Amino acid sequence: MNFSYWENKHIISKPDFTIIGAGITGLTTAIFLKNKFPDKKITILERGITPWGASSKNAGFACFGSMSEILADIDNVGLNETIELVEKRWKGLSELIALLGKDGIGHQNNGGHELFTPMQKELHSKSLNALDQINQALFPIFKEQVFSVSKNAFGFKGIEGMITNKFESQIDTGLMLKNLTALALNKGIQILNGAEVRDYKEENSKVEIELNGGMKLSTSRLILCVNGFASKFLEEDIKPARAQVLITKPIENLKIKGTFHMEEGYYYFRNIDDRILFGGGRNLDFDGETTTEMENTEQILHQLENYLKEVILPDQKFEVDYHWAGIMGVGSQKKPIIKALSDRVYCGVRLGGMGVAIGTLVGKELAEMIE
Ligand SMILES: Cc1cc2nc3c(=O)[nH]c(=O)nc-3n(C[C@H](O)[C@H](O)[C@H](O)COP(=O)(O)OP(=O)(O)OC[C@H]3O[C@@H](n4cnc5c(N)ncnc54)[C@H](O)[C@@H]3O)c2cc1C
Repeated sequence: MNFSYWENKHIISKPDFTIIGAGITGLTTAIFLKNKFPDKKITILERGITPWGASSKNAGFACFGSMSEILADIDNVGLNETIELVEKRWKGLSELIALLGKDGIGHQNNGGHELFTPMQKELHSKSLNALDQINQALFPIFKEQVFSVSKNAFGFKGIEGMITNKFESQIDTGLMLKNLTALALNKGIQILNGAEVRDYKEENSKVEIELNGGMKLSTSRLILCVNGFASKFLEEDIKPARAQVLITKPIENLKIKGTFHMEEGYYYFRNIDDRILFGGGRNLDFDGETTTEMENTEQILHQLENYLKEVILPDQKFEVDYHWAGIMGVGSQKKPIIKALSDRVYCGVRLGGMGVAIGTLVGKELAEMIE
């Protein structure tokens, strides 16, 4: 298959910068690049009708780490690197708000809460013991106490304790993505949907890109913002991690308001439009969930429904409306990989489960790096 003369002349020909992936990272990279180089032609290639990865599928937590996640990260990479990452997520959120405004992302500060079950006595007491130390370490960033002990005021069953993060917020993911896309288009950035990149190679000071259908496109600089799909192109420490989500039908007199984390972040739920959006369960089948297939499984949906019935909405009637899945990019570390792979090819990947927060900063850092 070939592009026509007209397509070549006006749409396809010679973008200065080509970005693969129209999620948060790809869109913000394009926006910051356009601010830096207003006269350059920038094209985003996106395989999906909508961005078909994580940015359109996520739970919309504007979070930067629950207490137990922060403690696990400290055990893994030490205090300084953990606090640095929290700061980057917080800065990323500020950058996102600076681009679109709080209204433009449906930002609501209803607080975030970590719930501890009786099975998690040890983790609960470890978290309580570390509360002051973590608050102190975060004080230079937030200038206030971030975490506090709170009461189970939402009627959750079998929950022994709650730790609240007053800075955690929620956004409307779809609104954010719609407005980010509109901003990119307004700036003259071209987005081609249904454009799946099969391969690329560097040749004669250009990068030749092969698309589905065998069509070709050549560009001066290529930027890979494909997160959970990166292992197709890169040999880096990154793997796909599927995350499954369900949403209830609207529930009468729903009292639950905020974002909630359970089991060290493997389960998460929030209110949205009188519904509960509930995701997680990847820890039930790590191997099976290391996939780029965007499907749901009975095993995980069943567990999510059980938690809804037994813990989250024990005394309320509810019906599950529908479910979906998205793909994250994870590795042995949570720090994103932002780097030049050659003089012409760059990547910004491995955003983990907090790309809503850090994504815009990754886009900004990539654009700063590219000349
Ligand atoms: C179910 C779920 C819940 C989550 N909840 C939260 C949350 O509450 N808070 C939070 O901060 N984070 C959350 N995350 C993580 C967050 O959504 C991601 O970290 C973030 O969206 C990553 O953005 P990205 O642009 O880097 O990647 P993506 O949004 O995945 O974008 C990559 C894009 O590249 C495209 N692509 C891939 N391969 C190709 C190819 N060969 N050719 C063309 N295009 C290609 C994909 O279609 C995709 O649109 C969640 C993720 C999931 C899946």
